Amino acid sequence: MRKVDYYEILQIIKRSGENGILQSNLWKEIKATSKEGSRITLKLVRSGLIRRKRELYRGKWTYRLIPEKLPVNFDSLFDLPCTFCPDQERCGETKYITPEKCEKLTSYLMKNVKE
Ligand code: SF4
Repeated sequence: MRKVDYYEILQIIKRSGENGILQSNLWKEIKATSKEGSRITLKLVRSGLIRRKRELYRGKWTYRLIPEKLPVNFDSLFDLPCTFCPDQERCGETKYITPEKCEKLTSYLMKNVKE
């Protein structure tokens, strides 16, 4: 999977509307393994941005991801720490700096949950 872009992932979930999206479909879309996808979606669930609803799909239990609170509008792109981050080149899933451990991104997500 390329660099985790939480904004893009949120937009995909947002586009799915009230019905949400099956997590397996999201993971295919962002080219993530189930392990990577779970880690990403759990972070979004813990942040209060999405919720998971257990669902039986084709005989298997899975989760549907539903947008909870949609934090971003076009203007807030300028507030997104990644937009002008000097560490962009060094940041990524397999790099020294990762979005999952980034305090700037976590703070941004938490701030938008509160607003
Ligand atoms: S270091 Fe943080 S703010 Fe910078 S690009 Fe990575 S996730 Fe975004």
